[in-house]
Amino acid sequence: MIIAMKPEATEEQIQHICDSIIGIGYTPHIIRGEERVVIGAIGHGDGRDHLQGLISAPGVADVVPISQPYKLVSRELRPMQSVVKLGDLEIGGPEFIVMAGPCSVETRDQLMETAVAVRAAGAQVLRGGAYKPRTSPYDFQGLEEEGLKLLAEARSRTGLKIITEVITPEDVEMVARYADILQVGARNMQNFALLKRLGSAGRPVLLKRGLSATIKELLLSAEYIALNGNHDIVLCERGIRTFEPATRNTLDLAAVALLKEISHLPVVVDPSHGTGKRSLVRPTSKAAVAVGADGLIVEVHPRPEEAWSDGPQSLTTQGFAELVAELKAYVRLESRYLN
Ligand code: PEP
Ligand code: MN
Repeated sequence: MIIAMKPEATEEQIQHICDSIIGIGYTPHIIRGEERVVIGAIGHGDGRDHLQGLISAPGVADVVPISQPYKLVSRELRPMQSVVKLGDLEIGGPEFIVMAGPCSVETRDQLMETAVAVRAAGAQVLRGGAYKPRTSPYDFQGLEEEGLKLLAEARSRTGLKIITEVITPEDVEMVARYADILQVGARNMQNFALLKRLGSAGRPVLLKRGLSATIKELLLSAEYIALNGNHDIVLCERGIRTFEPATRNTLDLAAVALLKEISHLPVVVDPSHGTGKRSLVRPTSKAAVAVGADGLIVEVHPRPEEAWSDGPQSLTTQGFAELVAELKAYVRLESRYLN
């Protein structure tokens, strides 16, 4: 339920509503808008639905149900767009955010060369996997903590923020010590133990859509993180599995526009995993801007033919610089900017 307060409601009246909500077994979540406060009553309650009765409490303007199963991440509860902060960087604001870097952290030279190049081209965040959830157990599994150390070194050399994947609840604390934002990969979107642990990670989370996950399932996974205390969530459309093998995945751009409509969370697009083909990264990146994405996460490698993972979909550093240069006009058309 959403309890919308009147613009002139006092702090005492807001507190009174929160106490009443707790009294009947729900958890209150206060959202302070520019004009008024709304309070979400989240949970099952104690079986007696007294929430509707709050309509007559002092300071209350309206009591309305939240129609969707996801609550905290829905626009019904919070109509204004959320902004996720990575230090001085804001995802979900007017700046279009570009995260770029190799699929896997391989060597110091590979990572530093990529970091310097993507920084010069205009990226704000460096991506790189140190823990790789590979389909085959025989494939490279990542450098683990050594990779995280290299990412931290690249941050101090370039000033880029760092995004990297965490694959188990036990690793969250350690990965959070190195990363500015934690990535949950497609294969872990419904790893509920991991999602719950990320609720107290103390770092923003980029949640990738599962290989065969519906939009509702993606938002319910985000809800797990929010309900466990972490509201700094960025959603990521990275393509879904369909009958079509010509592209690695089917990039669901309509999902991006829909997510922006039904959720207040920022949304970024991964055109690399979304298509699996280097040549398709540029056109789909431009389309991502047009459907309202708040940013991109793109795979870049100085020598894609030598990459230890995902070479065929990785841009060269030169290709990435061309992409960013070309995107600037598209970003301006959407009344955003990309420096
Ligand atoms: C990745 O970002 O390298 C990755 C493994 O992506 P996804 O989880 O979307 O497959
Ligand atoms: Mn990859």
